[in-house]
Amino acid sequence: MANENKEEDNTQEFSESLKFSDLGLSPEVLEGVSRAGYETPSPIQAKAIPILLRGENLLGTAQTGTGKTAAFTLPLLSRLDFNKNETSMLVLSPTRELAVQVAEAVQHFAVAMQHVHIVPVYGGQDIGVQFRALKRTPQIIVATPGRLIDHLERGSINLSHIQAVVLDEADEMLDMGFMEDVEKILSKIPETAQRGLFSATMPVSVKKIIDHHLGNYSEACIAAKTATVDKVRQRYLTVHSEQKMEALARVLEGEPYDGVLIFVRTKQETSEIAERLEARGFNAAPLSGDLAQAMRERTVNRLKTGKIDVVVATDVAARGLDVDRISHVINYDIPYDTESYVHRIGRTARAGREGNAILFITPRERRMLKMIERATRKPIEPMEIPSGDQISEHRVSAFKQKILDTIEKGGLEEFRNLVESLAEEKEFTPLDIAAAVTLLAQAGQPLFPEMKDISAIPDREDRRSKFNGREDSFGVGERSRAPRKENDNGIEEGFSRYYMGVGRFQHVSPRDIVGAIAGESGISSSEIGRIKLFDRFSTVELPQDIAPEILHILEEMQVRGNPSRFRLMTDDKPLPEESSGSSHFGSKRREGGRPFRDRPFSERGDRPFHKTRRFGRH
Ligand code: AMP
Repeated sequence: MANENKEEDNTQEFSESLKFSDLGLSPEVLEGVSRAGYETPSPIQAKAIPILLRGENLLGTAQTGTGKTAAFTLPLLSRLDFNKNETSMLVLSPTRELAVQVAEAVQHFAVAMQHVHIVPVYGGQDIGVQFRALKRTPQIIVATPGRLIDHLERGSINLSHIQAVVLDEADEMLDMGFMEDVEKILSKIPETAQRGLFSATMPVSVKKIIDHHLGNYSEACIAAKTATVDKVRQRYLTVHSEQKMEALARVLEGEPYDGVLIFVRTKQETSEIAERLEARGFNAAPLSGDLAQAMRERTVNRLKTGKIDVVVATDVAARGLDVDRISHVINYDIPYDTESYVHRIGRTARAGREGNAILFITPRERRMLKMIERATRKPIEPMEIPSGDQISEHRVSAFKQKILDTIEKGGLEEFRNLVESLAEEKEFTPLDIAAAVTLLAQAGQPLFPEMKDISAIPDREDRRSKFNGREDSFGVGERSRAPRKENDNGIEEGFSRYYMGVGRFQHVSPRDIVGAIAGESGISSSEIGRIKLFDRFSTVELPQDIAPEILHILEEMQVRGNPSRFRLMTDDKPLPEESSGSSHFGSKRREGGRPFRDRPFSERGDRPFHKTRRFGRH
């Protein structure tokens, strides 16, 4: 039976003054941390690292965005013995996307460690490629459960020397139907192995795994203390990581602001983003622990006096920052916990002024949003990324204002004469000349810019109502049941229906189908629509915007050991089973110019459903 020891809940105070070097990590790992540009441990890191370093089992209640990957990677890299030619550490991830991200993170942190070889193993990638990578017996494997079982059955992975195993995002993993696989995998791990489990929520399935497999454990959780932030108008923007910079620039153009404080996670990011903003014409400067005290003070003074308007800071550097004219706090990178969020947005709405807080969240960080809303007891409004037209409108009106101000200011006599003589000389109208001068004046910041549409990703509520209504399938979380809108063929709006050559005769259940699709492709289980099961085949509805690469992966997927024979249904009714599983997609795998082994995991042979977040942004 489990025996819990909760770590004292005083993280905020102690993590802010705590350094990574105080935690007892190995010098090689500290080197990796420093290269990643991390200044201080996040709360979950401050709590989990000592527990794992002591060799104890760990239950971590934390979601994506809290820094949980480093929370288990750093201590295990420090503690385990990687000098043998055997697989010592295993991380189980629910999706290929996460497996790749975690493997990349581990690789970065292990950069100063010799002999540590990491292989991610996930469905959808050619298994032959994985066989070759596994021949060298990696010390660390990051795997999705389904594909790991495949390898265990084929003897290409041996778990008998595992010293530590981590279940990452356990709730998502079990939600996807991987319970049986996870139990099977854990039963093959030596009793003596250290165990870690991270989960954002604690459904019964996760509790079952904890009871059966975690043994005695200590717990690290992030407290969601409530706090009021009444005077601040809070909004959020869901955006993919790679679009954040563009979104930031547009938000800054679209919002009337006085002073802006932008929060990022690493020192490198402070200078990188400040430079990129400057290049776009914003008056910006970085503020990080890397700068000497005098320089930091100078930057704060320049913000106070209006010599600069935008400061890009880390939490540590902005601690105690008190500048009345900060009208906006932008959380470019989501804070690690709610306390830090409240602390950050408390930098605005000072001295009786109005304040605005804008939070950028990537799709995977949506849970953090809910947590913040709960802790602050206030809903955070969604906001739109300003469109090209809105930016144009803004620029035009600012330009007009500048001209009016200049006319009002006077002193134009010489210039008026110049325009007049040019008009007479060349027989132009003054209007032609004014238009030419306007065109010249806007160079660098076009008044009518051609901007790509990067509209914000619909928030979770929208997606829920869009993707709910699954029939015949197992319940995934507490999805609300809004009325399903169907087209004439009975397919949900925005979805396409796909055929799979597996059905009841193959002992396939909807749970197997959801598990296979989610596990192989990274499509979230909440995005999988109605599933219908027949004796020899089944149908599944999936969103229409799925990338061809992903469809190709699904064609190659297996469900309960049977080829899926997945393909788009071109008929409105379920088709009788066909003898050949010919493909309608014919998409090509991406072929990079670099040799396979030199490419990052995320580029090896296939692409994740959503483009992966870059590790550490450095
Ligand atoms: P995770 O919750 O593990 O997915 O991490 C979220 C993001 O935070 C990743 O981009 C990490 O590189 C970054 N991160 C994690 N820990 C730290 C830290 N102590 N300092 C700065 N960035 C961090």
